[in-house]
Amino acid sequence: MAKKGSLSINSENIFPIIKKWLYSDHDIFYRELVSNGCDAITKLKKLSIMGEYEEPDQPDYKITVSVNQELKTITISDNGLGMTEEEVDEYINQIAFSGAADFLEKYKDKTNEDQIIGHFGLGFYSAFMVADRVTIDTLSYKKDAKPVHWDCTGGTDFEMSEGNKDTHGTTIVLYLNEDSYEFSNEYRAKEVLEKYCSFMPVSIFLINENAPVEETKEETKSESATTEEASETSTDDASSEDHKEAETKKAEVKPLNETHPLWTKHPNDCTEEEYRDFYHKVFHDYKEPLFWIHLNMDYPFNLKGILYFPKINSQYESIEGTIKLYNNQVFVADNIKEVIPEFLMLLKGVIDCPDLPLNVSRSALQNDGFVKKISDYITKKVADKLTGMFKTDRENYEKYWDDINPFIKYGCLRDEKFEEKVKEALIFKDLSNKYISMQDALEENKEAHPNTIFYVTNETEQAQYIQMFQKEGLNAVLMNTTIDAPFINALEAKNQDVKFVRIDADLASVFKDEALSEDEKKDAEEKLSKTFADALGNDSIKVSVEKLKDESISSMLLVNEQSRRMMDMMKSYGMNTMDPSMFGGNGEQLVLNANNTLVQYLLEHTEGETTQMLCKQLYDLAVLGCHPLTAEQMTAFIARSNEILQLLVK
Ligand code: ADP
Ligand code: MG
Repeated sequence: MAKKGSLSINSENIFPIIKKWLYSDHDIFYRELVSNGCDAITKLKKLSIMGEYEEPDQPDYKITVSVNQELKTITISDNGLGMTEEEVDEYINQIAFSGAADFLEKYKDKTNEDQIIGHFGLGFYSAFMVADRVTIDTLSYKKDAKPVHWDCTGGTDFEMSEGNKDTHGTTIVLYLNEDSYEFSNEYRAKEVLEKYCSFMPVSIFLINENAPVEETKEETKSESATTEEASETSTDDASSEDHKEAETKKAEVKPLNETHPLWTKHPNDCTEEEYRDFYHKVFHDYKEPLFWIHLNMDYPFNLKGILYFPKINSQYESIEGTIKLYNNQVFVADNIKEVIPEFLMLLKGVIDCPDLPLNVSRSALQNDGFVKKISDYITKKVADKLTGMFKTDRENYEKYWDDINPFIKYGCLRDEKFEEKVKEALIFKDLSNKYISMQDALEENKEAHPNTIFYVTNETEQAQYIQMFQKEGLNAVLMNTTIDAPFINALEAKNQDVKFVRIDADLASVFKDEALSEDEKKDAEEKLSKTFADALGNDSIKVSVEKLKDESISSMLLVNEQSRRMMDMMKSYGMNTMDPSMFGGNGEQLVLNANNTLVQYLLEHTEGETTQMLCKQLYDLAVLGCHPLTAEQMTAFIARSNEILQLLVK
């Protein structure tokens, strides 16, 4: 006897509301229905272990998803424990429904911004996001159980009657609504299933009921004819029998999921090759990961996962990683920043945390102490891995440093606890490509430049200074990534007495030979300031005269450290930095070497064509040693250089 019922609560029709609320990711019904199938099989396996169910010799547990684009149906079948009539009544008609009612109650008044992650608990009813009609055919594993057919058309009414399913398990058919036909397309289905179900613990097969029959060689002509007939006659009512036929006919090649993903294995049982393969497969990154961390924790909470440090090709490449979050091998979402510390979002990886409360909103997650613990645990593990490598595998650590240092520096800026842990493992690449600690760098400068660390931001632009430094036996460290400017500020804030000075900032004091007398210096500077101002038609250039050890150096441009930082900051805010009158000039100072013959010539000859040309050339050369010329300056420089060369052959 057919049993009829009604699902309406408070005279509200639940389905339009489900549709509306879950609209943002309505493909999620695939996850819900397939994971219900997985649950049903897992439960049956447990019953068998407990001796309450006798498994056949070689149980072939699986879930099949059959799509039919012509009929616009999706059929999801499992051979799990199935349901009796009472169970359908309890779990589908009452419980699943009350889950939906709860959901409505909770989120009715909230706005969309309060995004819901999990939708777990809404489970089965998510089918109505995409279907107008849903049928269930189920047979319980229990002895003498009768098959049940459940049919719910669109609105709120369902009908329950005796069905004809003759093997235990459950088959659910969705008759898609107009907006959702796409989900019966094989490729779309594959895409969604791969997104959510790639690592579910039971084999999942996708079958296209419309696929040409040649796929299986054994099939005969007559069989293919029946298939066509079947699809022609059953236009809007594909009975589950038809699907069953189609299902058995089509070849099942291989499951689309991996039922034992690498993270579920013990780290000792995983090979390097497996880690690399997993990385390439999951993140579609052809580059090799640098190294990885296998998280495996049972207590005080359950968490497993693998985090990879990806290779970054250039610092300009976007280095946004992906951390995929799973709940018992069911994909939940990418990059949930409440669970993964923000700075670790640069990594790629998977995290499976069965204990995570996923049916709550993101804002609730933020305030969840448990989530904070997970996030702290992950941070700690990453810090441990880094310091561990630093201590016991320094060679590789140094090899990876150029790639991983942006992560680490960013982490230090974002997370004090992390900084506290990894600060001992911070290293700097020096002028001879060796990796030294901050202490090493300070030690080297202890005598001549106490508490000072010189640094290079661009090895090409600052090549001349680097050469001078090396000649003098001085060292500097490379700080050439975008994160380095704020990182230097942070280091200085943490180590109050330490100063970072760019290699071109304080040259005069580094390379001074003997000091000029005050009078001499004043005299020379006044004279040369005027000569250069006249020649360049610019009286804002600051000129200073020093005796530098290396006679061959004529002129250099020095950029005051503080002014340069200020300019860089303004540039990063997109402000105009071309006006040198701002902030007391652009901080550039032209240093002329009183030991150099060209400069000595200028001190003797303050006027004339040669003097003018010399001034311009010396100035341009000084600029070139520091940063590129503008187009206009470059044109003039080339023309002038040619003129000067002409003098050689006259
Ligand atoms: P949840 O999975 O969170 O319990 P659902 O709405 O997805 O919520 O499902 C409600 C209940 O319906 C399940 O707990 C289960 O008892 C029953 N159920 C759903 N799908 C199946 C299935 N394929 N086989 C057996 N039981 C099922
Ligand atoms: Mg469920």
